[in-house]
Amino acid sequence: MKIGIIGGGASGLACGIFLAREGHEVKILERGDRVGKKLLATGNGRCNVSNVDLSSHHFHSVEGEVFSSILEEFTGEDTKEFFESLGMDLVEEARGKLYPITLNSNTVLNAFREELSRLGVEEITQWKVREIQKEKKGFRLIGQGELFVDRVILATGGKTMAKSGSDGNGYGLLETFGHKKSKLFPGICAVQLDSPHLRHLSGTKVVGEIELYNGKKKIFSSHGEILLAKDGISGPPVLDLARYVNCGRGDLFVKFPLLNHLDQRPSNYREILESRTYLDRSLESFLQGIVSKKWIHVICKELNLSPESSVMDLEYEQRQTVLDLLFGMEMKVLGTRDFESAQVTCGGLRLEDFDEKTLESKRVPGIFAIGEVLDVDGDCGGYNLQWAWASAWACARGMEKN
Ligand SMILES: Cc1cc2nc3c(=O)[nH]c(=O)nc-3n(C[C@H](O)[C@H](O)[C@H](O)COP(=O)(O)OP(=O)(O)OC[C@H]3O[C@@H](n4cnc5c(N)ncnc54)[C@H](O)[C@@H]3O)c2cc1C
Repeated sequence: MKIGIIGGGASGLACGIFLAREGHEVKILERGDRVGKKLLATGNGRCNVSNVDLSSHHFHSVEGEVFSSILEEFTGEDTKEFFESLGMDLVEEARGKLYPITLNSNTVLNAFREELSRLGVEEITQWKVREIQKEKKGFRLIGQGELFVDRVILATGGKTMAKSGSDGNGYGLLETFGHKKSKLFPGICAVQLDSPHLRHLSGTKVVGEIELYNGKKKIFSSHGEILLAKDGISGPPVLDLARYVNCGRGDLFVKFPLLNHLDQRPSNYREILESRTYLDRSLESFLQGIVSKKWIHVICKELNLSPESSVMDLEYEQRQTVLDLLFGMEMKVLGTRDFESAQVTCGGLRLEDFDEKTLESKRVPGIFAIGEVLDVDGDCGGYNLQWAWASAWACARGMEKN
């Protein structure tokens, strides 16, 4: 079969390999001057291709449940084998993240391109598909010319990092056939906070649990290194918070400890610290052994006390406020950074319009969609690329059965 893949990103390239290995005649149509631009930027140029923990709770859909059968059909072992088949070994780093052993995304792109070339897949660059026309048998793709194909795969990505080519134009190509998309919003990005303290704390970090609250209800929590900037926070545990901030309504705030590694402290650590507040020393002296210097300034400001004040003379309430701050500073959430700074688009083409095993459109049989253009997003940690490989595999297998 002649198959046209629209988009030479992670999912399009992988799908090209899967299909060509089955003997299909594949053309990858890429609007940019080269394929895989975003892939090169992934994982800070190291390409976090997957994760050792692929539990379903790491994948999300704005509309509800992600097609779990697709994720179950392409397991972590399959991902490993796929990369091995391309001559690449994977290594595990913190939080179960898997990378190519070279820790370089060029390795992944080069291996993909080499295999595509070996299989005779044509990469046609600077070819932006503007329209898909359904013919009696097959489809006509309209771009920098016209191309007739038997099957079409939409792999145009979401709308984050528009300069890589994925700017959200892909949704429209199927909307003309009646497909609908769910609400789009940025995920995996820094969170903006409203706090007078941030400007003093920019550049500091703390390792601990960050919690997101809507009023009294805790809606998300994650552990890791929280980085403070002058307008908000980022760092691994914060990035996954963004999707909850953007789908949440109401008064959101975050809470995080000022004390590093509380998980390594004894369970009565608060009492231990409280007993130290009865010793004859200054507030500054009490704090400097347990928090960084910049935080001392903030805590004193919050209490309206000078660093020289005697800790022993604190009122009971003041003592408790110091401890409350140390164990959980609260800051109001304003929002998140925009699509340009985000790593993934939450939302996308609604899954109900696609076959849950093959990702073939129910509205226009013969058209498939894979990757981030669909309403599926994963947590930070290799989950979005895992979805790209798994959805590409499902589609390629579905094509076999056609
Ligand atoms: C900075 C950054 C770092 C990231 N790091 C990681 C990571 O380490 N691990 C992880 O799992 N995920 C990561 N992600 C997310 C991951 O890169 C994406 O989820 C993944 O690339 C999506 O693959 P895709 O094939 O659906 O789309 P893309 O990779 O975005 O590819 C879509 C392609 O389609 C092309 N295109 C669009 N419209 C047309 C058209 N009309 N005609 C022709 N071509 C078109 C685009 O030019 C683009 O090349 C990161 C994202 C960013 C922005």
